[in-house]
Amino acid sequence: MSALPSMSANTQAAGDAAYDAVVVGAGFAGMYMLHRLRGQGLKVRVYEQGGDVGGTWYWNRYPGARCDVESMQYSYSFSDELQQEWNWSERYAPQAEILKYANHVADRFKLRGDIQLNTRVDRATFDERTSTWQVATSDGRIATAKFVVLATGCLSNARMPDIKGLSEFKGNVYHTGHWPHEPTDFTGLRVGVIGTGSSAIQSVPVIAQQARHLTVFQRTANFSIPARNAELTVEEREAFRRNYPEIRRFAREEARNGIYAELPDRGALDDGDNTRRAKYEARWAKGGLTFMLAYNNLILDKAANDTAAGFVRGKIAEIVRDPETAKRLQPDDHPIGSKRICVDTDYYATFNRPNVTLVDLKSDPIVEILPNAVRTRTGDHEIDALVLATGFDAMTGSVAKIDISGRGGRTLKQKWAEGPRTYLGLMSQGFPNLFIITGPGSPSVLSNMIVSIEQHVDWIADCLAFMRERGLEVIEATKEAEDQWVAHVNEVAQQTLYPQANSWYMGANIPGKPRIFMPYIGGVGVYRQICNDVAAKGYEGFVMSQSAPVPKMAAS
Ligand SMILES: Cc1cc2nc3c(=O)[nH]c(=O)nc-3n(C[C@H](O)[C@H](O)[C@H](O)COP(=O)(O)OP(=O)(O)OC[C@H]3O[C@@H](n4cnc5c(N)ncnc54)[C@H](O)[C@@H]3O)c2cc1C
Repeated sequence: MSALPSMSANTQAAGDAAYDAVVVGAGFAGMYMLHRLRGQGLKVRVYEQGGDVGGTWYWNRYPGARCDVESMQYSYSFSDELQQEWNWSERYAPQAEILKYANHVADRFKLRGDIQLNTRVDRATFDERTSTWQVATSDGRIATAKFVVLATGCLSNARMPDIKGLSEFKGNVYHTGHWPHEPTDFTGLRVGVIGTGSSAIQSVPVIAQQARHLTVFQRTANFSIPARNAELTVEEREAFRRNYPEIRRFAREEARNGIYAELPDRGALDDGDNTRRAKYEARWAKGGLTFMLAYNNLILDKAANDTAAGFVRGKIAEIVRDPETAKRLQPDDHPIGSKRICVDTDYYATFNRPNVTLVDLKSDPIVEILPNAVRTRTGDHEIDALVLATGFDAMTGSVAKIDISGRGGRTLKQKWAEGPRTYLGLMSQGFPNLFIITGPGSPSVLSNMIVSIEQHVDWIADCLAFMRERGLEVIEATKEAEDQWVAHVNEVAQQTLYPQANSWYMGANIPGKPRIFMPYIGGVGVYRQICNDVAAKGYEGFVMSQSAPVPKMAAS
């Protein structure tokens, strides 16, 4: 524990309780933030709207849910004892095991006492006179805090599609991102799945094994690579554990996406057809997200990308026996990797089952949902249960749900109306002492998110320690730094193929959401260096002060 006094001694207790910091959300980000700040002796309160810790892994309980970054890497690195002792069972752990891990972390680091569950943060208002935040929660209380950290998650605001008749459907309706806690069993039922993103690609093969019939409604075909999931052997776990210092260092400092992997040193067009095909075959056989690391220019050069996309389309044609279905499953409207690539177990082969039908919504759109069927232009598809795998209002959705007012009463929603604006993805000008973990403008969803979460949490914790040592109380991004960063994020995105896809990275899955490429593509290692340099230069681009300057009255 730090010898420095808690900041809350200076915090005005205008509401029911006063904290140095309020953290919103108790997923991996919120839990680690609590651990770090408490370790500095700060008085912290975490509010979590869910009934327990774990965030993503608390909510997404659909059949087949699991991580798609290997568990030995999709795990905290801040405690060597933890990473040496925890036994991941499979290459990609299932949801229940990741949730168990989150609970283990909460117990092991005694976090629960400072986490208030079943409590939603509805409003946060910056009081310029006292330089504190007033945080209103769903239990009717108002807490006061010097700092607020939004650990609200990038993929935590489940998107309900606006389809005529949905509320009239008489069977059960499930959203993959809001799955019930009780076991679901589709045995003997006719099930419809709407959506073919990552959650559908994981759940479709499992639901198909239970259901009498499964109809998959596809708007956009997505590229998916086999996971090649398997139990981890003792030797495999030990090899990771022995090499963790280097694996974690590489993931933080060198990898673009926070994953330890062999990096390619040549482009796809530098090899001839046979060599290239052999490389893709090897990556396909190995499985997983690192397929895109076969060459170093797959996301930069369309001609290079076409070779990888063509390879995967060829695989789909090999696996799926009905040529019509195979054709519909072959993505043809975006470069491979420009939408989050999916990782599956038997997704394409599932369409060879006699009880599975694919409906292509581009040529045969949904007209309405009837009490017992999904009606498309060409007819009715009778179903008893409906699964909405329609994704999330990504990156900004959960932040926008909170009524956040900064300086001059300006809301974050107003400020972000044309798209999110941040400095480094960490803060937004006009909202002093409000931090965002893995916010828009940081690598975030383009990375192994635990690497990005740990980096942000450490940066924020170090920043607060820096301020305390100097008696500083308020930090705010400058407009110039923010403008430059937003321009840089856009410029880097435009150098890649990413903006060519109508993806949730662009907000394209939410009607009316501005089309801005939200995450920072520069790479995890480069981004970390930028953040470290900013800190080393005394938090360049931020203004720190002892208290927020009170705006002058206009002369009469
Ligand atoms: C199905 C699925 C699989 C994924 N697999 C991977 C993977 O393999 N690798 C990877 O890197 N990433 C993966 N992700 C991304 C995943 O979201 C992150 O890896 C990580 O779990 C995010 O942690 P977090 O704490 O930032 O956010 P979350 O886990 O989303 O937690 C945020 C929490 O904040 C709470 N909250 C939000 N708003 C409020 C409010 N107003 N008041 C109170 N509480 C609030 C939410 O209830 C939630 O519990 C996956 C996501 C999904 C949906």
